[in-house]
Amino acid sequence: METLRQKALEQVFSRKPEIATPPAAKTSEYFGMYVFDKPKMMKYLSKEAYHAVELAIEKGVRIERRLADQVAAGMKAWALEMGATHYTHWFHPLTEGTAEKHDAFMEPIGNGEVIEEFTGKLLVQQEPDASSFPSGGIRSTFEARGYTAWDPSSPAFILDRTLCIPTIFLSYTGEMLDNKAPLLKALHAVDQAATAVCQYFDKNVQKVFSYLGWEQEYFLIDEALYWARPDLVLTERTLMGHESAKNQQLEDQYFGSIPERVKAFMQELEYEAWKLGIPAKTRHNEVAPNQFEVAPVHEECNLAVDHNLLIMELMRRIARKHHFRVLLHEKPFKGVNGSGKHNNWSLGTDTGVNLLAPTKTPKGNLQFLTFVVNVLKAVHNNDDLLKASIVSAGNAHRLGANEAPPAIISVFLGNQVSRMLDEIEEKVTGAKMTAEEKTALKLDIGRIPEILLDNTDRNRTSPFAFTGNRFEYRAVGSSANCASAMTVLNSAVAQQLTIFKKDVDALIKKGVKKDEAILQVLARYIKESKPIRFEGNNYSEEWKKEAKKRGLNVDGTVHVLNRLWTSPKAVKLFEETKVFNHKELEARAEIRQEIYMKKIQIESRVLGDLAMNHIVPVAIDYQTSLLENIKAMKEIFSEKEFQELASARIELVKEINQHISTIKAKVNDMIEARKVANKLEDINDRAKSYHENVEPFFEEIRYHIDKLELIVDDNKWPLPKYRELLFIR
Ligand code: ADP
Ligand code: MG
Repeated sequence: METLRQKALEQVFSRKPEIATPPAAKTSEYFGMYVFDKPKMMKYLSKEAYHAVELAIEKGVRIERRLADQVAAGMKAWALEMGATHYTHWFHPLTEGTAEKHDAFMEPIGNGEVIEEFTGKLLVQQEPDASSFPSGGIRSTFEARGYTAWDPSSPAFILDRTLCIPTIFLSYTGEMLDNKAPLLKALHAVDQAATAVCQYFDKNVQKVFSYLGWEQEYFLIDEALYWARPDLVLTERTLMGHESAKNQQLEDQYFGSIPERVKAFMQELEYEAWKLGIPAKTRHNEVAPNQFEVAPVHEECNLAVDHNLLIMELMRRIARKHHFRVLLHEKPFKGVNGSGKHNNWSLGTDTGVNLLAPTKTPKGNLQFLTFVVNVLKAVHNNDDLLKASIVSAGNAHRLGANEAPPAIISVFLGNQVSRMLDEIEEKVTGAKMTAEEKTALKLDIGRIPEILLDNTDRNRTSPFAFTGNRFEYRAVGSSANCASAMTVLNSAVAQQLTIFKKDVDALIKKGVKKDEAILQVLARYIKESKPIRFEGNNYSEEWKKEAKKRGLNVDGTVHVLNRLWTSPKAVKLFEETKVFNHKELEARAEIRQEIYMKKIQIESRVLGDLAMNHIVPVAIDYQTSLLENIKAMKEIFSEKEFQELASARIELVKEINQHISTIKAKVNDMIEARKVANKLEDINDRAKSYHENVEPFFEEIRYHIDKLELIVDDNKWPLPKYRELLFIR
């Protein structure tokens, strides 16, 4: 009988690339056509309503109900013209990904007639029956009353004939139950703190924006092969599979041409992204076979996060149309690179200045250095929390492995900036500077080249690198919602900038001149944050030792880092910046821990099932055919001949037997370990136990399965092999 694997392969071989037909118009003509953006608001809203939305976006001013009704009417008119039939409050639950509950615009009015209805009330607030979204105990299920509230700072859009309204998700008692609400608060905190610091340099600055440009990595595999791998279907990663003889060792994938079928997928993804106003800009192959990347131009952080979630959703949908499955898991395959999502981050003013880019003037560069040094200090103070913001069961397979940023956070600045900071530290600390020395330093600061971009020696191994006009946080996982990392980073920087302002003001009060005061505080920060700076190879063994000596957090253990959300330092950070209260932090820590534990639990069950139901029976089957062959030989040949001829086969039988026995024993032990873990009351203990007592079985069991894969008849092997998953497209 044909195996599922064989059937799947036949399907794959019969595929023809479906070339996407480009829209007839130029990109500029359809870019953003599905977004209720400002030009459309102008067209569909009264002046008064438009102004109200503008104020809400820019200043967070509440929109009164009467005007909300007008906005809703305008949105509805536009959405109906665009062919939408439903609307939904679109939000970011704590499970990663997005959630939505669709309602039709249709409203019966008796006599079997309907009208299209959508009011301000429905726009502003909704009560999804969201009792099954994780809430970490805040919202007890019997009073399942979380509600969603419109976030006017991110525009509504149409996806699949549904008007999607970006919202935040709160509990009935007002606690945040999503990823977006805290992000908005962190963005507000960093705006306030950074704007205050900007006043030292330019009184015209009224607002500081946080920008994010993400780079999304992903794998594509054929849909038929995907369905033949229950581990991919249920866990998004392969729990078994012997390495392919060739994978990425020839390094021939990165610059290789993109396969036709994949190109068709990418083109359609881009068309759809553009229609939704997502400025997708670059696409290319990644290091691993069948691995790719898409990156847009950076945008304001909130919008960029929405767009990232939206593109992940688009990828899933469009991949299906092309008979692919997209894998957003951080480590779908052992032995080849995993996927990350670099977060390029910067701060910019409403006067158009990038605060992380050098300028032509000493004053501008002092501002630049002020922000760079405060980021350094913030990252140094919160290296552990930054990690806590990005760890997950999936990302744990990537961090610290040889391809990805290590589990230690350090900052790479590059030669130029690094030297400048050392100079400031050396000259400003301690002895009083002479007037000439001050002038010389000022000149040096003025000389930081305006365009560092091309001059920076890029360090690809750094988890947090300065890349000329932005920082690049590279430890974020490919499946993650960037909001978590961006919330911690922006909060940490906000807190730090507030402290900086206080420190400088204190010196000014003592009579120190402003620039001098700034330099003195910076010199102290440069010294204090020195341990976080590292320009060498982050993958090396020496760095691990060195980092420990420097007092950096070197632990990558997910369940340990998850607990940091409620550490005194985190509580202080988030209360000072008004991003999370204590209760919300506790809820978050609990949810993250629970998701982590459940992922391992599911993987463990899938592995056990596959081992016992898919692999062992096939191995026994092959072993039986060997035994029959041996038996027949024994009947035909003399004892002496038989001993000679059958010995290799007998060895194979024994080998198979040994693997089968070990698999069986280990699966039993794993199940027992699960039972013990499941009985633990406290979620932290359960997560720890799953990590320490259940997870170690994965590699052991896999080892024996992968050995069997090399022995058992290829015609019988049930699961698509790595060479098929990675190279067929
Ligand atoms: P690389 O792969 O070399 O890091 P890419 O071009 O793939 O570069 O990605 C760079 C990303 O950085 C893009 O998303 C880009 O928009 C973003 N970016 C560029 N300048 C800034 C900035 N000032 N702030 C935030 N992101 C930025
Ligand atoms: Mg990058």
